[in-house]
Amino acid sequence: MESQPVSGHQNRTYGTANPGYIPASAGRPAMFAPPAAEFQGPSAPPAGMFDNMPGYEGTMAGGGGGFLPPPIPAFPVPQPQPGPEQPHWNIPSITEDTARKAFVQFASSKCCYSAAPAKDGVITSMDAFNTYRYRLETFTESRSTEWSHEPYNGQPVDALAQPPPGPWDVPAQATNFFVDSKQIMKVPYTSSMKACHVCVGMGRKPCKDCAGAGNKVCWVCNGSGYRMRNDQCHHCSGRGRENCIHCHGQGSKQCETCHGKQQLLVYINLTVKWTNNSDNYVVEQSSGLQVHNLSNVSGKELFRDSQYMVYPVMGFPDPTVVNAAQRLVSEHQGKFSQTSRILQQRQTIELIPITKVTYLWKGKSHVYFVYGNEFKVSADDYPATCCCSVM
Ligand SMILES: [Zn+2]
Ligand SMILES: [Zn+2]
Ligand SMILES: [Zn+2]
Repeated sequence: MESQPVSGHQNRTYGTANPGYIPASAGRPAMFAPPAAEFQGPSAPPAGMFDNMPGYEGTMAGGGGGFLPPPIPAFPVPQPQPGPEQPHWNIPSITEDTARKAFVQFASSKCCYSAAPAKDGVITSMDAFNTYRYRLETFTESRSTEWSHEPYNGQPVDALAQPPPGPWDVPAQATNFFVDSKQIMKVPYTSSMKACHVCVGMGRKPCKDCAGAGNKVCWVCNGSGYRMRNDQCHHCSGRGRENCIHCHGQGSKQCETCHGKQQLLVYINLTVKWTNNSDNYVVEQSSGLQVHNLSNVSGKELFRDSQYMVYPVMGFPDPTVVNAAQRLVSEHQGKFSQTSRILQQRQTIELIPITKVTYLWKGKSHVYFVYGNEFKVSADDYPATCCCSVM
């Protein structure tokens, strides 16, 4: 059930009948002289505007909502289990034909490269430097709260109807594991109606361009009302003052915080954030191909294990992969369980094919690499890169 506000002024404590907000007439000083701080833009609401909400004592207004550590689970956490057995780790390789085709395509994708070396170079050797990439992904949920407000338009007011649910008890569910997303919602039973702190409940604020007067000294006659000698100033019709264009002579403008509604709905906002935290380990190889090239390609997936908490992969033939898995699993579980709740982990091992191709072109030996499932090519010493230098 939602409780509706009883009347429009139950929380209004300031100047319901303020005489300062009639438009100031010509020549009269501003009747509303606000403190200078009011001109500094939206100020943070005073702390007294926030009700005391059990379970939300540390919640601040605006921006820096701190992350809330998840509660200790009341039920036993399932222990990680070893992943499926992998009896057979096979190693693919590419043919000379594949290597050459990839190379020709590479050369033709570069406008300044002659395709001749790629087409006619004589391959003298092909060496496999296949490597492994271990990847650990930890999908986490984190929650933070902050006091917020919005113009009051008749939204339900439910504060104090009953205690609010704890920040980790508000239901929210990620749509997909391993995909970043975010959800922002009002915490139930924290919404109340308060007089706007910016306009002190009046819905309007003094215009800063005319300091609330509604008019300014006429810029044509500089306030005298006359131009030359006895010529009345046309611009101000002799008044010596002109209407302020910013407030249309009213001396005040609608409050931007409450949109003129005088009242704000004040509530606690809960931000639920789902993050996929991913780390890679690539086994070093001595082909001469820079490791950073490999971040753009995929490999053949040899192993995949996804569960609430993974157990570091075991029995893999390359011990550096096993070590990296142990290190990353322990790092992730330590790091992410502090400030967030781990929802799911996934570990994969890919075999990334790397073939070093040596070929002869015009009597000299050159090298290129073909790597990844995509057959990407790297050829730093390509021999004919200036075919269009005639320009
Ligand atoms: Zn004038
Ligand atoms: Zn004005
Ligand atoms: Zn206001």
